[in-house]
Amino acid sequence: MTQPTSPDLARQYHSQLLPRILDYLHARGIPDPIINSHLLGWNGWRISIPVFNREGQFAFFKFPRDPDEEHPSPKMLTSRGATLELYGWEVVLGKPASIIICEGEFDRLVLEAQGFEAVTSTGGAGSFRPEWADDFKAVPEVYICFDRDGAGERGAMQVARLIPHARLVALPPDVGEGGDVTDFFVRLGFGRDDFLKLLEEAVPPPALIYEDPKPSVPSSPDRERIEGVKKQVPIENLIGGYVPLRPSGGMLIGLCPFHEDHVPSLTVYPRTGTFHCYGCLKHGDVIDFVRYREDLSFKEAMDRLETMTTEHGGQPE
Ligand SMILES: [Zn+2]
Repeated sequence: MTQPTSPDLARQYHSQLLPRILDYLHARGIPDPIINSHLLGWNGWRISIPVFNREGQFAFFKFPRDPDEEHPSPKMLTSRGATLELYGWEVVLGKPASIIICEGEFDRLVLEAQGFEAVTSTGGAGSFRPEWADDFKAVPEVYICFDRDGAGERGAMQVARLIPHARLVALPPDVGEGGDVTDFFVRLGFGRDDFLKLLEEAVPPPALIYEDPKPSVPSSPDRERIEGVKKQVPIENLIGGYVPLRPSGGMLIGLCPFHEDHVPSLTVYPRTGTFHCYGCLKHGDVIDFVRYREDLSFKEAMDRLETMTTEHGGQPE
């Protein structure tokens, strides 16, 4: 994209909207008042969605593809210099009674058309930035409604960990694998009351039980040796030697070394000597961590940890 980006351009694109694109947006559950208030437009070859930053300034465009395009091209493009943004800052900062964090700009607009306050990260599932979470503390009811697929599930868990009072909304199986908010309202024809019912049934994320996991009880004859290693190599020291960790509640969080992590998905629980990643779901104790990280067998990992206890100020036997 080489054209300049500015709010004026958003207005210009908005004035260029073609009747067939309007029809398409209507059919996607986005009516005229929403199209107009959010300045959806047409840049000559793609739909344009202007995104504004926390200060209310124009940030960049998202460009969903032309629905009638003959040659397949990326479903979504962004204008040059685009960063990750929360699409719907004005909603969060308005401190509504409740808000829905969804996955995708169109889904946000469909929810708004149904009378729900909604926001989305412009980067899709798994791209919610930890620093955005603070502004959600002032919102009494926070719901997370992501697509019904693996990425959506993992993304929802990441957001839930950042916003402890958030609840997970499960779309019904009818939306299908990968189904989303738009499928619910538009393809399946459900209404506002049906979605309110889903909100009532929303639950705290089940994985939060990992806040207090039971340490694993090994049944091998090496049990004493294992317990010794665990006692002498605190998990926060071990993992902290690989990735920076910072305290968050009674635990520590950091970027997971086992998958490409853009939000801190790794949680470390010093009290129980365990770790858990909400992104790739790897979890375990110090021995597991070393096994995964260094690609070692159980026995090799034990040897390595025992070396560490003697080398790094642990108490040599
Ligand atoms: Zn991970």
